[in-house]
Amino acid sequence: MSGPWRPSPADLARPEVRALPRYSPEGGLCAVDVSDNTNLWGAPPAALRALQETPGGALARYPTLYSEPLRTRIVRYLELPSETGVVLGCGSDDVIDSAMRAFGQPGDRVAFAAPTFSMIPTFARLNALEPVAVPYAEGFTLDVERLVERGAKVTYLCTPNNPTATLLSRAAVEYVAEHARGIVLLDEAYAEFAPETFADIAVRFDRVLLLRTFSKAFGLAGLRVGYAVGSPALCGLVERARGPYKVNALAERAVSAALEEGEEGVQWVRAHAALAVETRARLAEALTARGWAPLPSGANFLCVPVRDAAAVAAALRTRGVLVRALGGLDRSLECFARSDGGALRIGVGPWPMMHRLLEALDGLFAEQRP
Ligand code: PMP
Repeated sequence: MSGPWRPSPADLARPEVRALPRYSPEGGLCAVDVSDNTNLWGAPPAALRALQETPGGALARYPTLYSEPLRTRIVRYLELPSETGVVLGCGSDDVIDSAMRAFGQPGDRVAFAAPTFSMIPTFARLNALEPVAVPYAEGFTLDVERLVERGAKVTYLCTPNNPTATLLSRAAVEYVAEHARGIVLLDEAYAEFAPETFADIAVRFDRVLLLRTFSKAFGLAGLRVGYAVGSPALCGLVERARGPYKVNALAERAVSAALEEGEEGVQWVRAHAALAVETRARLAEALTARGWAPLPSGANFLCVPVRDAAAVAAALRTRGVLVRALGGLDRSLECFARSDGGALRIGVGPWPMMHRLLEALDGLFAEQRP
């Protein structure tokens, strides 16, 4: 006799969640890990000191509800008008997710130029939204009219773009800001390494949310703090969808210290971003001299089209170097047609690390040049 039907947890889960693989990039301990675009020089000393000096009592209490004390510092850092809205989160991941939740009704579209930050389609699906990819045109220019024609509730732009490191033009960003039907998420996670920022666009257009993070140039990825700026109305709605207490007390203290002017705070961040930009040029030159063709980069990493990227990354791993392998990239773009849709994403860090990477590549390709 069969008893009452007892659904399993999987039967009960939302289909979007059941279908979602765990995020698990190829990893493992490697002497040289240049796979995640973090600050390979470390964290600002002022932030480290703030962590060490945090009294135990501060941990026994909740942090502030919405990180109010950090907002003024962030607006000052970005040199924006003091009335600009700010919303923080547990990484900019959290802000992106909350923004989709705040504006997307089930079935609404999230449009983006592909390839881009891999979490975008994931957050879209988790919020019961439909991810709609629009391919980049040759030279990584954006077909802005096509993107806007998708009529998406949320349009996502990323510049410098992960994983290609390429930049959007100001004209392209402004076109989307002006013509998009819904809100625009403008992700500048790598802005500190780029020649220009579009922060002013988020101030001028009340439906544009500019996303930034403390995980990259600020060297605080382990603390998980990201933020967005835009109109107070827009930020307030994202905050409602986000909920309170998302930035923990330690993170709040460290970020606040990192934003202080001074050699151990913001100046440390700026100096190391400049060093990353310098090292990026040196690494690109070294790779080019070896026959590789890294894409022009505005970020702290290089995207290098490579055939059999997964196999190359695995071979590098056995030589103690971890890079990110990318596959299935758009073959209608000439650079990825030649690499059969493959590329390596290589983070820029102190030169001895880059030297180890080049040595590993040299060892691997001693006989066959790319
Ligand atoms: N946006 C982009 C473009 C990224 O590359 C990343 C991290 N890889 C994020 C957002 C998320 O950063 P975090 O959650 O650490 O702030």
